[in-house]
Amino acid sequence: MTAPQWSTPTVVPPALFDKPPNTIAAPVTLLDSALVRLLPAVPKPVVQLFSSRYIAGATLAEAVECVRGLNDGGKMATVDVLGEEITHEDETRAIAQAYDDVFAAIDEAGLDSNVSVKLTALGLDLSYELCRENLLEVVRTAAGYGNFVRIDMEDSSTTDDTLRLYRELREDGHDNLGVVLQARLRRTLDDVQALADLRPSVRICKGIYLEPGTIAFTDFEAVRANFVRCLDALLEAGCYIGVATHDEWLIGESLARISQRGLGPLAVTSSSLRDIGCASTSPSVSTGTATRCGGCKRTRRWRGQSRRRLQAASSG
Ligand SMILES: Cc1cc2nc3c(=O)[nH]c(=O)nc-3n(C[C@H](O)[C@H](O)[C@H](O)COP(=O)(O)OP(=O)(O)OC[C@H]3O[C@@H](n4cnc5c(N)ncnc54)[C@H](O)[C@@H]3O)c2cc1C
Repeated sequence: MTAPQWSTPTVVPPALFDKPPNTIAAPVTLLDSALVRLLPAVPKPVVQLFSSRYIAGATLAEAVECVRGLNDGGKMATVDVLGEEITHEDETRAIAQAYDDVFAAIDEAGLDSNVSVKLTALGLDLSYELCRENLLEVVRTAAGYGNFVRIDMEDSSTTDDTLRLYRELREDGHDNLGVVLQARLRRTLDDVQALADLRPSVRICKGIYLEPGTIAFTDFEAVRANFVRCLDALLEAGCYIGVATHDEWLIGESLARISQRGLGPLAVTSSSLRDIGCASTSPSVSTGTATRCGGCKRTRRWRGQSRRRLQAASSG
C-alpha cells in the first residue's frame, strides 16, 4: 500500500503500510462478526465477556481500579457512565447524579481522569431542555472538583443538537467542557470552522456510527484524509485536541503535525479505548505525549454500547 497523496511520508514508519487498510486482527474480526449477528440471542454473560475488552467495569469501584492501572502506566483516563436507550426522565436524572459519585471517586482516589457523557443518556431524545439541565448539573459538579467533561458524539441525528448545546454552555462561561467531532461526516470541516471562535477542546475520531454516503465518507482513505484536514483546521484554530484513534498512521500524522507547529507535548492527547487499544498508542507515550485511555463505568444499559463496539470492530 502506498501513502495517500496528502501524507507526510517521512514521519510514518514504513512498517505501518505493510498492513492492508480497513482490517482488524483476524481472530477479533471473525469472532466479533459472528457475535454481532447473533447478539440478540446471545446470553448476557457471553456478551459481557466480550464487551469487557471495551468496558472497564460494572461498578464504580471497578472503574476506579481500571483508571488507577492506566494512571500507573502513565496514561490519563476518561470515565463514561453508560446509559443509552433511555426512556424516562428519571433515568436521565439518575445518570446525571451518578456522575457526582464518579467525580467524588476520582477526587478521593487522586486519579488523573475526567469524564465523558452521552447526551442521549442525559435525555436528548426525550427533550433538549431536560438534556441541557442534566448536562449543566454534570458540568457544574465537574467544575466544583476542578474537573472536565467531554460530550461524546453519537449518531448523525444528534450532531446539530450536540453542537448547539456545546455552544450554549460555552457561551455561558462553562469552559470545562469539550466535544467530539467525527471525521467520517462530510460536515465536520464546516463544524470545525463554525466552532473556531470558541477555541473548543475537541476529541477528533473517525466516528463509530455507520452513516449513509450522502452525509458521510464511506471510503477508508477518504475518512483518513478528512481526519487530517479537520486536524489541521483545529490546530489552525488553536484548539486543544484529543486524537482518538487506533490507526497508527493517523497517530503518526497527528504527532508530526503538532511537532511541525512547535507545540508542546501536551497539546495533543492520543486517545484509545482500554485494553488492546492502549497498546496501540504506546508509541506516543515514549514521545512524551500524554495518552488518554477510556475507562467506562458500566450500567445495566451497557448492551447497546457493547454491540456498537463489536459492530465497528467487525466492519473494520
Ligand atoms: C478514546 C476514544 C473515544 C471515542 N469517542 C467516540 C465518540 O465520541 N464518537 C464516535 O462516534 N466514536 C468514538 N470513538 C470511536 C472512533 O470513532 C472509531 O470508531 C474507533 O476508534 C475505530 O476507528 P480507528 O480510528 O481506531 O481506526 P480503524 O480504521 O477502525 O482501525 C485502525 C486499526 O486499529 C485497530 N483497531 C481498531 N479498533 C480497535 C480497538 N477497539 N482496539 C484496538 N485496536 C483497534 C485495528 O487493527 C485497525 O486496523 C472513540 C474512540 C476512542 C479510542
